[in-house]
Amino acid sequence: MPRTLPFLLILAGLSACEATEADDTATDPAAAQNADYGATLADAGWADDMTVSLGDEALTLGDDGIPDHDVLEAYALMDGTTTGVSARAYSVEIPVTPVYSDSTTDTNMGTIGVAISGGVYFNPYEGDGTSIAVDNNFVVDGVPFLDTCNAHPLPDGADYHYHGVPYCITDEVDEDGAHSVLIGVLLDGFAVYGPQGEGGTAPTDLDECSGHTGATPEFPAGVYHYHLTETAPYSIDCYHGEVEVPSRP
Ligand SMILES: [Zn+2]
Ligand SMILES: [Zn+2]
Repeated sequence: MPRTLPFLLILAGLSACEATEADDTATDPAAAQNADYGATLADAGWADDMTVSLGDEALTLGDDGIPDHDVLEAYALMDGTTTGVSARAYSVEIPVTPVYSDSTTDTNMGTIGVAISGGVYFNPYEGDGTSIAVDNNFVVDGVPFLDTCNAHPLPDGADYHYHGVPYCITDEVDEDGAHSVLIGVLLDGFAVYGPQGEGGTAPTDLDECSGHTGATPEFPAGVYHYHLTETAPYSIDCYHGEVEVPSRP
């Protein structure tokens, strides 16, 4: 018996390894994606004036930055002046085989993802990096900082961006009682959705990046994805996919 015990322990160790690997495969969000992930992303409801180009490794999204829904004539700025929305072309490459990472990366200032409207997503924070934009909205002489889409342009008028649920988009595409529809994608390649989880209610299992793995209308087999939320942090605080964070100009 003493001679066979180590052998049995090795066997036990091997089968434990195999069981762990099998579980990882079943729950790995990246592995849950189907082969046409990129094609499904490219097929989303991107605004008619956007350029959508699918390559082997990346989906390239371009626009003049002006969303395909109404915007306000004026937005209040911190310094008491106002600005309007103006065009500035962008082109963003999104990986079409996103890789889920156990470690997270803080979302950067500036563009963190592209919306189907042609606008872009920013993280929850204002320029100081700590004030949550949606919680610090203000109105000067009837001119608001953020519009009812939780969005505004930069002070120079460019880069119209959402800091929370983009109601101008979700009101058009989401349906009561159902999971939200894909309304964009972050720079790590994982898709962005409105506030409705399965059954139409807010998901209760979101991670620190406001993401979870589950079925969506576009990915019924299940996939890792982000939700914009009606409670803080409203936008996305971190990436859970491998990402090259752009350096800020
Ligand atoms: Zn902003
Ligand atoms: Zn979901």
